[in-house]
Amino acid sequence: MSRKHYLINPTWQCPNHCTYCWVEQTVRKRELFDAEHRPLQDWVNAIHRDKVELVDIAGGEPLLWGFVPELIAACPKTSFGLSTNGLCTEEIGRLCGSRLPNLVSTNISYHPEQARQDRTWRRSVLLLKHSGFTVHSNIVDYRQNLEVSETTRTWLLDRNIPCVVSPYESMDMLGEQLEQGLCCQGGVNHLTIAPDGSAWPCLTTLRSPFWEQACLGNWLDDTIDLSRKKQPCHLDCVDYYVLTEQHSSGDMWGIEARPCEAAL
Ligand code: SF4
Repeated sequence: MSRKHYLINPTWQCPNHCTYCWVEQTVRKRELFDAEHRPLQDWVNAIHRDKVELVDIAGGEPLLWGFVPELIAACPKTSFGLSTNGLCTEEIGRLCGSRLPNLVSTNISYHPEQARQDRTWRRSVLLLKHSGFTVHSNIVDYRQNLEVSETTRTWLLDRNIPCVVSPYESMDMLGEQLEQGLCCQGGVNHLTIAPDGSAWPCLTTLRSPFWEQACLGNWLDDTIDLSRKKQPCHLDCVDYYVLTEQHSSGDMWGIEARPCEAAL
């Protein structure tokens, strides 16, 4: 069985409003967007309680939350990944001033719609790299974005900074129910968690129009109920149909989705 690898989103706020962003297309249109932000100690307590081995911090722009270095420092036995857009320069400076050996991966995503802020973004990339963090970048692949991003890709590769192309799938497909049922480790090895602690088996279930029924409870309040999980699942699972085939990270959450015919 894979290790526990959770995705936490401590805020949905972001200085950008990229048109292709899934948060813009789904969460922002729901009451989920206005959910309360929970204090640092609630996140620390839940990570310690569940002994989560790997936590990815994303959002929204997680550095707007204001407590990323403190969270990582308070959980030294957990490895962390951070996904940032690289535009919160003050917080990036604070991160670089910290000694955080358990921040094992820093992904600075490149969104072509923020191209007017390229100088700020590049400064952040170099600052993190020169501070000793493992830095890589994902370049959003959505319609014409790859052509727009060509200069940035070259700039990264010239500095030996790895970059991958991330396909941004359309959210329109997530309302369809497919004939093939899938079983997975969502809810067991993996949770996707909103700023108020609400938790889903995976990112697909949170993004889908069925997000309310698919919510497993509140992770920060320790009310996860796995009997709420629908299995087999008939959603157009991004983890199974997209990531394993089109993303270089493959099954990055260790969610192990596979066809199954088990009765509900
Ligand atoms: S099968 Fe896919 S969409 Fe369904 S719960 Fe598992 S990971 Fe999520």
